[in-house]
Amino acid sequence: MTRRILIVSGKGGVGKTTLVANLAYALAELGQKVVALDANPSTPNLGLHFGFHLAPRTLHNALRGEAEVEDIAYWHPFGFYVVPGSLSLEDIKNANPEKLSEITLSLLGKADFVLMDCAAGLGKETISAIEACDEIILLTNPDLPSVVDALRVLKVAEGMGKKSLGVVVNRIKNARYELKPSEIESIIGLPIIAQIPEDKKVAESIALKRPLLDYSSSSPASLEIKKLAHFLVGQKFEYKRKSLLGKILSFFK
Ligand code: ADP
Ligand code: MG
Repeated sequence: MTRRILIVSGKGGVGKTTLVANLAYALAELGQKVVALDANPSTPNLGLHFGFHLAPRTLHNALRGEAEVEDIAYWHPFGFYVVPGSLSLEDIKNANPEKLSEITLSLLGKADFVLMDCAAGLGKETISAIEACDEIILLTNPDLPSVVDALRVLKVAEGMGKKSLGVVVNRIKNARYELKPSEIESIIGLPIIAQIPEDKKVAESIALKRPLLDYSSSSPASLEIKKLAHFLVGQKFEYKRKSLLGKILSFFK
């Protein structure tokens, strides 16, 4: 069965694209067939996380009916497919997101997970992306504006009959001024399924166009994303610390 999961937040800049990129990696590591799809036609940047920003054909061709999903899914050497968007202003200006549902429906039966990145806000493309998924993961930062925006998106998604898997809180610094997990759960009314810490390795990995999980596989954010992937496939996550010999061997790899 193919699960079409949208990572959605309402607010921009909370970490959706970063999570899609790394969750794709983590699920592929668990042996899942994954397609990471950029369902954000106006500000597509998922491809940039993988170095696929110059792909000759993209989601935008499929949105115009000029390509099938097979033509725009690129195999990543880390073991999953990526459907990037176009960076061309012309493509972005004229993008019509209404075909997103048709595109993700055509992936049914071809993957275990279709992980979808989403635009910020509640405009036409976010609504089309919600339409194109079966389940959502709400992403927020531990501050009131992003929690309130997440709640608003949740209400819209629930109104459209979509299942919510829970809340992922990203960029936790454990600062005094942050909302606590219990406060976030009671505002949103859903359980928290992952708590990803602020991790400076994230920005470094993006600059290198490499998934964080490859760049720094046991950094605090990586471990929490791996845990989330285990949760999605119903497996228990056990953190195995590398032995000294293991560390030396991976250093020379
Ligand atoms: P969105 O897709 O929601 O707009 P992005 O994934 O583009 O958000 O992330 C926005 C910024 O936040 C990026 O610059 C990224 O480096 C940073 N970021 C995301 N998650 C983390 C994290 N856990 N720790 C530190 N920085 C993060
Ligand atoms: Mg994004």
